[in-house]
Amino acid sequence: MYSEWAKDEIRIERLEVFAHHGVYPEETKNGQYFYVNAVLHMDVHRAGREDALESTVNYGTVCGFITYWMQENTCLLLEAVAQRLSQALLLEYRALAALELEICKPHAPIRQPFGNVSVKVRRGWHRAFIAVGSNLGDRRNHILSGIQALKEHPLIVLKKVSEMIVTKPYGGVEQEDFLNGTLEIETLLEPEELLDALHEIENGAGRKRTVRWGPRTLDLDILFYDRICYESENLTIPHVDLENRMFVLKPMAEIAPHFCHPVSGKTIAALLRQLEDSSLSAKD
Ligand code: ADP
Ligand code: MG
Repeated sequence: MYSEWAKDEIRIERLEVFAHHGVYPEETKNGQYFYVNAVLHMDVHRAGREDALESTVNYGTVCGFITYWMQENTCLLLEAVAQRLSQALLLEYRALAALELEICKPHAPIRQPFGNVSVKVRRGWHRAFIAVGSNLGDRRNHILSGIQALKEHPLIVLKKVSEMIVTKPYGGVEQEDFLNGTLEIETLLEPEELLDALHEIENGAGRKRTVRWGPRTLDLDILFYDRICYESENLTIPHVDLENRMFVLKPMAEIAPHFCHPVSGKTIAALLRQLEDSSLSAKD
């Protein structure tokens, strides 16, 4: 579960597990002792108030889960153990906002004398807003099947869906009206992985990339991802020019009016008001 405010921690130190991870055949054959350190980030206010085991994550069952998972799976790399196990824990224990997981292998086959080797990762839930649009064929159906595909994705949880609104095309290409909306999701995917997942869903709706800003069966754009500002060849977050797009601000204002743009600090409701005012004065 996404939470910016999960400042509390439950710590597990040096959990001992005999398992069979490793690159060398003798490691997978004979096995060895691994030690696991975990920091579970979650809000324990309720458990602190109620003093009830049901209100928290039971560290005993977490230790059992880690042990079972490490014995049932075999990875070549500690990186893969840490990555896959942290994902499994976050999916199993939904109260966790994030976790740090360190997998130690003090008996790794290294020629030189050494104390320990380990890999530590930090993983957690992220909150993102997605713009959804269609202006080709059965628009509502394309959007509904896109939403369904997001719901079915194992690393995405759909939190909110706005009303879909009919809007005029944007970007100067002559084409049919759009149906647009906004979604709020929580995800374990990193920004570029989320973009790939969205492209796959678009392709599933028969999307062909021909004209930029041209007609499309389904368009899924990342508007915001946590509060990050990110720029790469494929991806810009926050989405470019969103403060000038009524078809983005209107539906987003319905589901998250108080969300603050990470650069300007203005709320979505304020950005919408600003755009409505400027389009009114443009008409005068
Ligand atoms: P549109 O800009 O109308 O959404 P496309 O859907 O064809 O156009 O996207 C073109 C490219 O924009 C994508 O292939 C993607 O790599 C890039 N892009 C950059 N930033 C984003 C973002 N925040 N969300 C989605 N796509 C993005
Ligand atoms: Mg797009």
